[in-house]
Amino acid sequence: MTQTVLLPNPSLREPARRVPTRVGRHYFVRTFGCQMNVHDSERIAGLFEADGMQSTDGYESADVVYINTCTIRENADNRMYGNLGQLKAIKDLNPEMMLIVGGCAAQKDRDMIREKAPWVDVVMGTHNLDRVLDLLDHAEQWGPITEVVDELQAMPSSLPVKRELSHSAWVTIQVGCNNTCTFCIVPSVRGVEVSRRPGDIVREVEQLGATGVVEVTLLGQNVDTYGRDLAIDGRRRPIFGELLRRVGSVDGIRRVRFTSPHPNDFREDVALAMSETEAVCEQLHFPLQSGSNRILRAMHRGYTQAKYLDRLSMAREIIPGLGVSTDIIVGFPGETDEDFEMTLEVVEEARFDSAFTFIFSSRPGTRAAEMTDKFVPKEVIQERFDRLTDVQDRVSYERNTEAVGQTMEVLSEGPSRKRADVATTRSRTGKLVHVAGRHPCGSFLDVVVTEAKPHYLLGSPV
Ligand code: SF4
Repeated sequence: MTQTVLLPNPSLREPARRVPTRVGRHYFVRTFGCQMNVHDSERIAGLFEADGMQSTDGYESADVVYINTCTIRENADNRMYGNLGQLKAIKDLNPEMMLIVGGCAAQKDRDMIREKAPWVDVVMGTHNLDRVLDLLDHAEQWGPITEVVDELQAMPSSLPVKRELSHSAWVTIQVGCNNTCTFCIVPSVRGVEVSRRPGDIVREVEQLGATGVVEVTLLGQNVDTYGRDLAIDGRRRPIFGELLRRVGSVDGIRRVRFTSPHPNDFREDVALAMSETEAVCEQLHFPLQSGSNRILRAMHRGYTQAKYLDRLSMAREIIPGLGVSTDIIVGFPGETDEDFEMTLEVVEEARFDSAFTFIFSSRPGTRAAEMTDKFVPKEVIQERFDRLTDVQDRVSYERNTEAVGQTMEVLSEGPSRKRADVATTRSRTGKLVHVAGRHPCGSFLDVVVTEAKPHYLLGSPV
């Protein structure tokens, strides 16, 4: 494996240390959106706890509420404004409660939030998480404040963290994105790609391994380009494959996953690192978005149907037993019946284990939102969406059926939500497996798969 010599990263500031000032007070964090937000919320909780606060389980019992907003998922904006309305009533009863709104919607719509919800004490963006306590101090002393900056000020990973699970952890390796997918708001709210130094990442994973974490998920918007903004050995190039090998060799870490790769940047060295590093799971999330070259071009995805399928075959050849999931958008502006049929053809050919399917929803601030003359009627989109989910459910069921009778290692996530005597577990390939019996969260066990359903498997301990 190549040894890496590091030149300095862009100068991000170190978080300031402070004496806890809110001992005995309670906080509540509500998160909307993707894993990146979930992990940012763990950092916010870490900062609050470092300031002496304890978590509580609802708005009513909280002295400080942090709403981590999203602009990507459908209806996330509406739900956020609904929540802010509900919080006004709570704040009327408890005027001392401090309300902070952060995340992507705050980054993008700071003025609208101020206008629609003037009772919010702090509006802050995605690039200044490290400032949350200073902004809270300011708001308590001087009244409402908005601070949204355009460039990342401190790597979120340099902040304290309160993790949701003790056996599994998110690890940020990169923030921002240099792509220009026309449906996506991420580049304008999360900024350009910034990679975290590999040494820092490995150190964090080593600390996690030493404290009993057995699974890490590396997080970035486009992990395959990780490292190309760093000068490594005097050169700027993607080094995600090397990072996987280093993270995968850390003591105690038995599973490494990552999200999300980009089909345009996914190369053989990453597939080889996956297959040659035992801890790296045979799981790949490979977002297709559309099977039509015309629509892929309009989306600015940078690949064609053929290139996508080639790269997928390459990954499957190199990584035996690979589990593959994808994202698909139905009804992108201008999508015709022929375009949609091409998506269905790829779904049949690619045989994804699972797919996250989305109805196109116009996000203000994106290029696609301006293509109003090409918007597809809602009922046409709905009909296509239903057909797509029918096909994918069948394919998922067929893929799951292939696993019946196999023995596989699973990692328990604790009792299932419906039955305490059944554990929810995950296979290395990312499949959900319900296993009879009580198996503590974080424990590994071997199971034999007894039955397949479209969205999960049933298994018995061997
Ligand atoms: S790769 Fe495209 S979809 Fe993904 S974050 Fe970047 S712009 Fe958005």
